[in-house]
Amino acid sequence: MSPETLVSPSTIAPLAAPYSQAEFDDYVMTTYGRFPLTLERGSGCRVWDDQGREYLDFVAGIATCTLGHAHPAMVAAVTQQIQTLHHVSNLYYIPQQGELAKWLVEHSCADRAFFCNSGAEANEGAIKLARKYAHTVLDIENPIILTAHASFHGRTLATITATGQPKYHQGFTPLVSGFHYVPYNDIAALEATIADLDRDQRQVAAILLEGLQGEGGVRPGDIAYFQRVREICDETGILLMMDEVQVGMGRTGHLWGYENLGIEPDVFTSAKGLGGGIPIGALLCKSFCNVFKPGDHASTFGGNPFACAVALAVCHTLEQDNILENVRDRGEQLRAGLQKLAEKFPMLVDEVRGWGLINGMELVADVVLTSGDIVKSAMNEGVLLVPAGPKVLRFVPPLIVTSEEVDRALQSVDRALTAAVS
Ligand SMILES: *Cc1c(COP(=O)(O)O)cnc(C)c1O
Repeated sequence: MSPETLVSPSTIAPLAAPYSQAEFDDYVMTTYGRFPLTLERGSGCRVWDDQGREYLDFVAGIATCTLGHAHPAMVAAVTQQIQTLHHVSNLYYIPQQGELAKWLVEHSCADRAFFCNSGAEANEGAIKLARKYAHTVLDIENPIILTAHASFHGRTLATITATGQPKYHQGFTPLVSGFHYVPYNDIAALEATIADLDRDQRQVAAILLEGLQGEGGVRPGDIAYFQRVREICDETGILLMMDEVQVGMGRTGHLWGYENLGIEPDVFTSAKGLGGGIPIGALLCKSFCNVFKPGDHASTFGGNPFACAVALAVCHTLEQDNILENVRDRGEQLRAGLQKLAEKFPMLVDEVRGWGLINGMELVADVVLTSGDIVKSAMNEGVLLVPAGPKVLRFVPPLIVTSEEVDRALQSVDRALTAAVS
């Protein structure tokens, strides 16, 4: 096709504005509790709704829009690749997939990558890899994977089972067998659980943990805990698998969340920020546990030229623009500001915590307001936030957020908390 025949944006029919949210609900399944907001366009860390109102976006598509909205590097990668070749399947070699795997391997502790489309799908791959490793290397007949209370690993059957929160299991039993939960950051409980499960015969094959629990309330991992988990895995041969879906790709100020803990996992997964908002997931592992053989695992869309070209553009931009330094600096600025607000509103705010640009503000337990209430109030003040459970506000702006934008967001949150207490 010659460039002249390409569809120009003006030939795409515009949607009615303001958009009818009632009509939406007539056709779409009610799996989400949505805020009454329709966003129309974005630029950098700002988005505009269908009434033309501007917001600072401290949600970033739930920690996915690494480079914000309409970033020139993403626009270039998207348009170039869609005009060249977007999907061919894994029946053939895909150079963009090879280049992305190479970049990820060269910038992490892993030796090999597999690509899919989401965090849940990446974790499904990790679960299958752990089971295959257990059967073929550890000689375990009924492998158990340990996960943590308050964790979040996705919404497929195996990954809700891995998720250590009963509210995600409700109504979906029978769950997948072979999972067992341990309290997060509690080494004595972990050691006791392994001793108990392995008493008669070896069962524990892997432990899957988030370096910082995102959905479960923005709870950072404890360095001493993770270092001891690493030692236990080294001593026993249990695989240490880390879910980097939310904290990976620079979100914490390091490229990978595990770098904050001074350890290397054997297996890790990535998704959210990897494609800067274009769907892509990845499963990465070290050579010794690279046990998949042809036919063991697959994904039709996984690692297609389009998604990989965009993810590569995100990776290269992170590196070339030194964005991790911005994440650390803006993260400190944001946490210091939130800490000041915690001191100003002690009747509302219990604690501020986080790493880089994933931060949580926990509300006082016996306050009647929920994080959802504050999110609505913040929206009125021009900043978008996302809850992480009923009592925690989550701040996950694009990694390119500026100092001025952090200050403006803090002023909006100040006004939102003032409105909430009055
Ligand atoms: C969001 C998330 C997932 C699930 O990712 P999806 O792309 O929604 O399937 C898994 N693990 C963690 C830690 C997440 O934050």
